[in-house]
Amino acid sequence: MTAYLITSVSIVGAAPTDLLIRDGVVAEVGPGLSAPDAVAVDGAGLVALPGLVDLHTHLREPGREDAETVESGSRAAALGGYTAVCAMANTSPVADTAGVVEQVWRLGREAGLVDVQPVGAVTVGLAGERLAELGAMADSAARVRIFSDDGHCVADPLLMRRALEYVKAFDGIIAQHAEEPRLTEGAQMHEGEVSTRLGLIGWPAVAEEAIIARDVLLTEHVGSRLHVCHVSTAGSVEVLRQAKARGVRVTAEVTPHHLLLTDERAETYDPVFKVNPPLRTAADIAALRSALADGVIDIIATDHAPHAVEDKECEWAYARPGMLGLETALSIALDVLGPEWDLIAERMSRTPARIAGLTGHGVDPAPGVPANLTVIDPAARRTIEPAELASRSRNTPYARMTLPGRIVATFLRGEPTVLDGKAVK
Ligand SMILES: [Zn+2]
Repeated sequence: MTAYLITSVSIVGAAPTDLLIRDGVVAEVGPGLSAPDAVAVDGAGLVALPGLVDLHTHLREPGREDAETVESGSRAAALGGYTAVCAMANTSPVADTAGVVEQVWRLGREAGLVDVQPVGAVTVGLAGERLAELGAMADSAARVRIFSDDGHCVADPLLMRRALEYVKAFDGIIAQHAEEPRLTEGAQMHEGEVSTRLGLIGWPAVAEEAIIARDVLLTEHVGSRLHVCHVSTAGSVEVLRQAKARGVRVTAEVTPHHLLLTDERAETYDPVFKVNPPLRTAADIAALRSALADGVIDIIATDHAPHAVEDKECEWAYARPGMLGLETALSIALDVLGPEWDLIAERMSRTPARIAGLTGHGVDPAPGVPANLTVIDPAARRTIEPAELASRSRNTPYARMTLPGRIVATFLRGEPTVLDGKAVK
């Protein structure tokens, strides 16, 4: 196994030092290291972080390999600085059995670019009618710990209660896509001034907030664990703040796009800005940013949602919701948070790894820890060209925007998946 010596690199923003990777682990850290057999990587001006961990990725395989595969999505993840991703269950067939989650898990191992941890569906076929085989998925080779019908809300309160109770047996988590479906029928964008002006049916903030409020109460009642996907409103932040103050075991994520883009993007009628939950207002963005800083929102998760051209380059009303995210998330985080490396490591690596129970991930580079890490050039700026992305899809909302930061290298258990900013395989 090749060794790598990264010289003069800042580990999570600390003073520059040398970092030796050998036999899959961080072998040594300190100034003036020498390792004649190692490949030298000049780390001057660069920052090393624990490999990023995404709790919310859509890899589309099985079923929509034209939009993404486990391999292409894994490559996009590695290029974005990730070493582990949680693959959502809304594939075709749905990941609602031990067989499908094991298939996704194996495809991830075969690609070998990031650790792919499957998320299991809560209900059979995401239909919201009866519980899937949660225990069988937990006991499978994929060791599923997080369950979600993401894309759909588990709207039935009795089913949600049963799911929360069931996963207690193995300390599992229900990750909810919070959307009261009766309040969002036909919705095309955020309900507000812009939707009124454009004459599009709105998706009201309360449809998210009502489900989060219900679910934190159910979670508290049964003593289970809840994770809230893609929080998008200021009101949701307040519900979560109160729940956490009472000690409810709830965690929450925000996406990069909900930290940056507002509902005014819908004025372009460019479906690349159509997403669920929808882009909200500047006031929501301000609340989400401060919740991310103070910890009411625990993590940034991408909700990477690749879509084939025919599903996205069409009329707004017919376009599928969702945006790419893996290859741009770190840049958006840098743009939004600035070079707050400890906070970025906390929100994009340590905490998501802890929530998902991914041992070996989310650990700062130090002697003896698995070499799952990424190296960033914070001074670089790059203009996003959709055609250059590793994803099979092109639906990035940041096309031709110039963003800060570039991933220089990513290592998975000591093997580079990205070097010199390029995918190794
Ligand atoms: Zn969702």
